Amino acid sequence: MAKEQKKGSISVQTENIFPVIKKFLYSDNEIFLRELVSNAVDATLKLQTLASMGKIQGEIGDTTIEIRLDEKKKLLVISDKGIGMTADEVERYINNIAFSGASEFLDKYKEADAAKLIGHFGLGFYSAFMVSDRVEILTKSYQDAPAVHWECDGNTEFTLEEGKKAERGTDVILHISDDAKEFLDEIRILNLLKKYGKFLPVPVRFGNEKKWEKPEGEEKEKEIEVPRIINNTKPLWKQNPSELKDEDYDKFYRELYPYSFDQPLFHIHINIEYPFQLTGILYFPKAKERIEVQKDKIQLYCNQVFITDNVEGIVPEFLMLLHGVIDSPDIPLNVSRSYLQSDSNVKKISAHITKKVADKLEEMFKNDRADFEKKWDDIRTFMQYGVLTDEKFFERAEKFMLLKNTEGNYFTIDEYEKKIETLQKDKNGTLVHLYATNIEEQYAPCQEAKAKGYDVLLLDGILDVHFINFLEQKKEKISFARIDADVMDKLIQKEEALPSKFSEEEQKKLKELFEKQVPADKFTVILENMQENDLPIYITKPEFMRRWNDMQKISGQPSFYGMGEEKCNLAVNTNHPVVAALLADSDEAHAKEVCSQLIDLALLSQQMLKGEALSKFIERSVGMIR
Ligand code: ADP
Repeated sequence: MAKEQKKGSISVQTENIFPVIKKFLYSDNEIFLRELVSNAVDATLKLQTLASMGKIQGEIGDTTIEIRLDEKKKLLVISDKGIGMTADEVERYINNIAFSGASEFLDKYKEADAAKLIGHFGLGFYSAFMVSDRVEILTKSYQDAPAVHWECDGNTEFTLEEGKKAERGTDVILHISDDAKEFLDEIRILNLLKKYGKFLPVPVRFGNEKKWEKPEGEEKEKEIEVPRIINNTKPLWKQNPSELKDEDYDKFYRELYPYSFDQPLFHIHINIEYPFQLTGILYFPKAKERIEVQKDKIQLYCNQVFITDNVEGIVPEFLMLLHGVIDSPDIPLNVSRSYLQSDSNVKKISAHITKKVADKLEEMFKNDRADFEKKWDDIRTFMQYGVLTDEKFFERAEKFMLLKNTEGNYFTIDEYEKKIETLQKDKNGTLVHLYATNIEEQYAPCQEAKAKGYDVLLLDGILDVHFINFLEQKKEKISFARIDADVMDKLIQKEEALPSKFSEEEQKKLKELFEKQVPADKFTVILENMQENDLPIYITKPEFMRRWNDMQKISGQPSFYGMGEEKCNLAVNTNHPVVAALLADSDEAHAKEVCSQLIDLALLSQQMLKGEALSKFIERSVGMIR
């Protein structure tokens, strides 16, 4: 290179790019540090690759990247001991933005571990001008070439001259501009380094930190200054799962979420090599009362550089219930989210992650069913959310979705169908799945069902109602009915109803008698011809209306058309002797009293008799005993 200074102007594309970088990306200007540190990491990895290929003589020595801050001189320096650049390379790689050095390197060294090279972030080196008035590069190549000093003030003019740097590597010196003073603050830089660089593959040092240590040969601990290394260069997701223990994963969870007190339930270590590269660890949290789709619980990395904790559009929505990290060099990062969502590669990646998660869950189910059942209550909501929002996930998960009955036993959907097949098929051949949502509150009808040999599921999860709706649509000839949705014989209708003992007129009279005792807007009185030994009165809540209500509650929407008002059915068993006696009773006052008593008993069994009505019932009952 000629000794004299060289002046030049950066290639034409730059003129268009500079204002774009400065203006539109200003809100996110902190990413300059990620870009520059990534370049430093890249240069260091390239050097290590060359060394491992025997293309560099001698030791490469310590390659720690250093970040230095000089508040007074308004300087921020990113300094690496990587491959450096010759004057030619500065011309090509720096002065011509469109020319990506990384891609050339990859072409040249195809056999090298290309995935280790960070690059292609789009903005790259020039993002330095988002926060600087002037940028200098001092660099010396690993090849035998003079050092280079490049300088540019943010316009398209630059100077290039021989530099004084003696050691291999590159210093990028930022003269921080007045409107970006925040980046002269040590804490701000430290936080940024921790945010983007916590798991970079090359050690990054930022000043010193104080530590208590016992110096050799001394008794007491002493406070000493040690280099402050901000990263863990071997994060767990890059390690071999077979060499890791549960404790390691728990510890790493703490490292990812230092401010969280949660304990993860279990984890999935993902390692995809083909058709694209992706590694990661997903943690399943314990079940919560509410569904928490948090868009910021999974961190996305690209070759160990933190990119974002907003993975919307990249991982399927239901997986956002999980926590953890995903690292892939194959996710396009410099494009908008709307583009991401329509990108076919991203779709493939997203589908593949779902498949891996399903594989792992299936493996857990097959290998240790008892343990899987133990975890089920915690993962149920996640599984149902997945099934409801992702068709493909259902195809995989159908085999190991579990149903739990009121006795606390678990069944797959198929197993359960087999279990209830003989007794719970109605006259149309529909397999009726009975369920309770609360064992205490629905105790009486549960007992009644069990007495008939029926099984009752317990569906008390937040997504259960949605899930059974879904199953009813997916599968033929099955239905779900809550245990108090109708009188037992009607829940699973086996044969045509029994005939009534009463004439039409008598039936009318009976209906009126009961209608007078209950408010018409709350109850519909219906006559049912049941068995003599069934109860005289049942209160039921029609399945359709109640399910509607439950769904409204979950979605938090107000009900419309008064559908939200729960209206119950009051079913009178016309074949019960007490009911027959009631009709024959000539003492009107007594008949009314018995009628009220029967209704109250039915309400009581449904936990619906409360307050004043309950004390009136007690008073009346005592009166009747006397
Ligand atoms: P990208 O990293 O996407 O290729 P950049 O604009 O960040 O784009 O960098 C352009 C090129 O400049 C890099 O590919 C690399 O060849 C070179 N370069 C940048 N920083 C360094 C560095 N610290 N050491 C060596 N080369 C560097």
